[in-house]
Amino acid sequence: MQKEPNRSSIVLVLGTRNVKKCREMAELIAPPWEPDPQLGRLLIQSVGDFAGVADVVEDADTFAGNARKKATETARALGTWTLADDSGLTVDALDGAPGVLSARYAGEPSDDEANNHKLLEALAGVEDDRRGAAFRCSLALADPSGMIRLEAEGSCRGRITRLQRGPGGFGYDPLFLILEYHQTFGELSSIVKHQLSHRARAFARLRPALIRMIARGEMETSPTEG
Ligand code: IMP
Repeated sequence: MQKEPNRSSIVLVLGTRNVKKCREMAELIAPPWEPDPQLGRLLIQSVGDFAGVADVVEDADTFAGNARKKATETARALGTWTLADDSGLTVDALDGAPGVLSARYAGEPSDDEANNHKLLEALAGVEDDRRGAAFRCSLALADPSGMIRLEAEGSCRGRITRLQRGPGGFGYDPLFLILEYHQTFGELSSIVKHQLSHRARAFARLRPALIRMIARGEMETSPTEG
């Protein structure tokens, strides 16, 4: 995206076509507040930058299962290292729904506004103290052969508001209240979301192992190059 490839660059494809999620992933993988020479070598691309890659059918019943599937199938299709994120919202009063169906809660094609509307209707009449929820994120890194090499998870608790608040973020962010800040992820800056979110926590867990893999030269060549 931003840099030209050079001898020491390592191409890493993000296995999502969701532009806003992709931007968050690119910011979190090598965060400026934690500069690292190994992570600085990553040349981040998105599956959306490549033509002719079929959409992955997300039919696993866990976030981790879908993240693995997206990473493996995209890596095999492109022959590149691929990092996939599967994430969503689990609401206590809805027994964990929408869960893995978060993107398609109100049907297909995925529509954030329709999903938020459906969620507010499902929680109509539910008292504030029973509107607890969690965002969850699973990450999976596949090598160019499709083998899963790293996995990490993160979650973040909050409460579903009664009205959408704030223009920031994406998906359910305008409904997800961080109690300590009295603001939703739609209102909080991306800097704050990048400290607290399910995705930020999953990346914080993934980064040390990723740095070790790069430092050991494990990501330098792909099987197709060797
Ligand atoms: P996926 O792309 O299949 O993983 O779907 C993720 C869906 O979960 C998105 O379409 C959003 O509805 C929701 N979601 C995941 N992460 C976030 C987030 O950080 N903020 C708001 N909604 C999110």
